[in-house]
Amino acid sequence: MMRKRILISLPVFLVCIGSWFLLSGEPPLWKTLSGSNRNVQTGHHLVPILCFHDVNGAGPYSVSIQEFRNYLDILKKENIRVWPLKKVMEHARQNKLMKQPTMAITIDDDFENIARVAAPILREYDYPATFFVYTKDINNHPRGGMAWEDLHRLLAEGFDVQNHSHTHTAFHEPRPHENQEQFARRVTQEIITSREILEEHLPGHKIWAFAYPMGYYSPYLESRVRDAGYDLILTVDAAPVDLTANFSGIMDRYTIQKEYVDDPMAMFYKQIAYARQTYKSAEVAQVEEGPEHGLK
Ligand SMILES: [Zn+2]
Repeated sequence: MMRKRILISLPVFLVCIGSWFLLSGEPPLWKTLSGSNRNVQTGHHLVPILCFHDVNGAGPYSVSIQEFRNYLDILKKENIRVWPLKKVMEHARQNKLMKQPTMAITIDDDFENIARVAAPILREYDYPATFFVYTKDINNHPRGGMAWEDLHRLLAEGFDVQNHSHTHTAFHEPRPHENQEQFARRVTQEIITSREILEEHLPGHKIWAFAYPMGYYSPYLESRVRDAGYDLILTVDAAPVDLTANFSGIMDRYTIQKEYVDDPMAMFYKQIAYARQTYKSAEVAQVEEGPEHGLK
């Protein structure tokens, strides 16, 4: 009895849906998403976001200049294109697949070497990158550090600069003896005051992304960053961006490192394998052929 009702009601349901589309003038969802026909489309749906630190620096997350060049050479040789982070976010929002394997490059902290070492090398390869900086130390180290004029130059060269907090400390939970109000004020300074400082010193440049310092976060911190109006939150949770998933406002990054993984190069090639994976769908729009996204 139950089964019969389902059998009768399914065609009725389909007719109703069909007439709704005709009457409403709205195209069905698959047409909106995939263009004028319903061919199943294949594209690349995983986009790893690389997170570098300390190019020519020291420590477990550092890479030498030669290692940095080697990573970029491999991307070139393996035909992985590098897109600006913002462009990847826009595709994730619209669930657009990529026609070619694609990654994005970010570099955190590294006030010593972003402007002097990493950016000139990235320019040689014509690879865009987003630099996540924290505001407390900008201009505080006139010799080795980063000055506002460095950031002006990087922006003029086509790179992106986004927010990595004010003090680069852990602020995902209150400190011992810190009450809720004090903690909330501290978080405001880390996520909102820092953005004001960046936007004040970089006129005309919008700060739309926030990367958690050291990867620490909590539901409270996440809700504060969302409430602050950022378009995107970056973690270091090492998962590629899935362009078929509902956009959550959060994208994970893969940290390039040498001490906490057995074989850093194998892990890097794993990111390449992710970027190469393909997905077939009638319901996800294929990315249009558009201009390539180099630095300029
Ligand atoms: Zn950092």
